[in-house]
Amino acid sequence: MQLHLQTWPEVETYLKRSRGIVIPIGSTEQHGPNGLIGTDAICAEVVAKGVGEATDALVAPTIAVGMAQHHMAFTGSMTLRPSTLIAVIRDTVASLARHGFERFYFINGHGGNIATVTAAFSEIYAEASMAPAGNAPKVQCRLKNWWQNPGVLKLSKELYGDSEGSHATPSEVSLTWFAHPEAIKQAKLDPPVAPRGGFTDAADYRRNFPDGRIGSNPGLATAEAGKRLYDLAVQEIAAEYQSWIAGARPD
Ligand SMILES: [Zn+2]
Repeated sequence: MQLHLQTWPEVETYLKRSRGIVIPIGSTEQHGPNGLIGTDAICAEVVAKGVGEATDALVAPTIAVGMAQHHMAFTGSMTLRPSTLIAVIRDTVASLARHGFERFYFINGHGGNIATVTAAFSEIYAEASMAPAGNAPKVQCRLKNWWQNPGVLKLSKELYGDSEGSHATPSEVSLTWFAHPEAIKQAKLDPPVAPRGGFTDAADYRRNFPDGRIGSNPGLATAEAGKRLYDLAVQEIAAEYQSWIAGARPD
């Protein structure tokens, strides 16, 4: 169930049976010559919708622009500063907490968001910790990277081995092609497997990784692999969400 397709009375009814909500968070940034700019937002959104269907949970609108400063030397990329993204997450949680939501399960599509989302959770908890005793809202947040599940990792390894890399991976490109077969792109990848290494700012990133990929060969992506990764991600994350909602402690 997607929040934006409900009415307010329906949300009131939902809150009588669950205090949990799934929030997809991604990024809008280059993903190499054949990967879509929206890859990370698309992956988070499609998995979150699947988890929402599997668990009968509400799914909030996707936070589609993330912390991607290092991709800004490639046309079409967008970023929020870490401080802006923290503010977006705080206000998103505060808005929903006002209505009675207590468990916020972020399904993330972008490694570059992790540090900032974690800092945002600390801001949210700090606010509760510093509120007068007894007045703090009972908010708990969790961050789940869609690809970090035993079954998904195993399948990615089987399918792609060392060609998986760490940015514009064949796994994430496959998942977007499953979600959007109308947007499948072909491009020459030279070399087939991109270089590996670190980076600092956008210019440094582009110098080190001229076509945008890191360590990956997304020429191996297929929509069929995307369907298999989707099924596993939804199955594993739905189980984790359900046990967390049932009372597991937060991270
Ligand atoms: Zn990505």
